[in-house]
Formats: sequence, structure tokens, C-alpha cells
Amino acid sequence: MNLLLAEDDAILADALTAQLRQAGFEVEHAPNGAVAEYLLLKQPHDVAVLDLGLPLVDGLTVLKRVRAARPALPVLVLTALDSLDDRVAGLNAGADDYLTKPFDFPELEARLRALLRRTRPIGTSAELGHLSFDRDTRRATVRGEPLELSPREWMLLDLLLAQRDKVVTKEQIQQAWALDRSEGAAAGANNSIEVYIHRLRRKLEQSGLAIRTVRGLGYLLEVEAGEGG
Ligand code: CA
Repeated sequence: MNLLLAEDDAILADALTAQLRQAGFEVEHAPNGAVAEYLLLKQPHDVAVLDLGLPLVDGLTVLKRVRAARPALPVLVLTALDSLDDRVAGLNAGADDYLTKPFDFPELEARLRALLRRTRPIGTSAELGHLSFDRDTRRATVRGEPLELSPREWMLLDLLLAQRDKVVTKEQIQQAWALDRSEGAAAGANNSIEVYIHRLRRKLEQSGLAIRTVRGLGYLLEVEAGEGG
């Protein structure tokens, strides 16, 4: 398990690095947000532990940028204060879990193990219900029939698959689209997200998959009952 630890407190970072290594993780340490962002975008880590209060680039900004490029990366954020605003902002920016400082190492380890069990990153291809999806060839089929997707529909399906069993927020969709120049326009408004969700739902009708709307939060990809996968 490759873990990136972004923490600017050198004493805490050293202690955590030693404990994480003892617990079997390969640890790479970033002492500031700029290095954290660079490493996370460059290397395929299995999980990241990200302090929100980082110099150069703050943790929340790092998280937003990395989340857009790596939607499936499990991220646990560390917050200095038990501030509800920080936790909400972290979860909105795509954190999978958070821990308030100070914490005991066994709690961090338990949270990381739970996080890694929960997020099962898909590789370059996925088979779910009657859908088969291949990132490398950018090809998807439903019951063997090619699925014609626009670039934005493709990104949407990719996000939903990468975070299956977990809500994809409208903010995450907008961030993913903001990086996309293929269809001209800037990041879509919320109502255009709904339009794309509607189209994708229609295209997935025979797939055994359903996109559920979680009111006020976002969307969730589910395998319909009896379809397995
Ligand atoms: Ca800090």
C-alpha cells in the first residue's frame, strides 16, 4: 500500500511515518501543499492522508485539484481544530473521511483500513451489471452493444464508476468538467448536470445499473436488484 502523507509539522510527520511503515505502508512524505499536489498527480498512491493546514498550497485546494484528476483516490483529511466548517469543507471537496488532531495512531490506522476496504478502486476496466467499461480504449458496451457517449457523459460515468457505492456530488462533476475543454463551454451549471444525468440514465437503461439522485447531495450508481455484479 503506497500512502502519501502531507503534513507540515515535522515532529508529527516523522512519528506518523515511522508508525505507518511499521503498520506495513510504503510512506511518501510531503512537507507542504505544493509538494503534496505534485506527488499525488504524478504517482499512483493507494491512499492519502492530508493535513488541511499546509503551507504554500492549503490542503483543501490540494484536495480539490487532486480529486478532479484522481476521483478514486481514498483521502483522509486531518483537521487541526474540531471545526465543523473544516470538516464540511473537506467532505465537500471530496475527502472520504477525516480525523481531528490530536488523535492516537491506532485510530488513524483503523480509519485507513476501513477506508481502503470501503473504496475498491477499479482498474482501467470494469464489469458491472451488464456494463463493460474500458478506460484505456475509451470503450463501453451494454450487453455487448457499444455505448455511444459524449465526452461529458463519459466523464460522468467514469466518476460514478470510480466512486460506486458513494455519492458523487455536483461539485465533483463540475470540477471534472472544468478540466474538460472538449465540449467548449465552461463548467456546466447544476441544471445542465441534470440534463446529462438524464441522458446517461436513458443510455444505461439495459445495463442493470441505476443512477440514484440523493437529494441535496448528488448521485449514486447502483446495481439494480437481481443483476449481480
Ligand atoms: Ca498543519
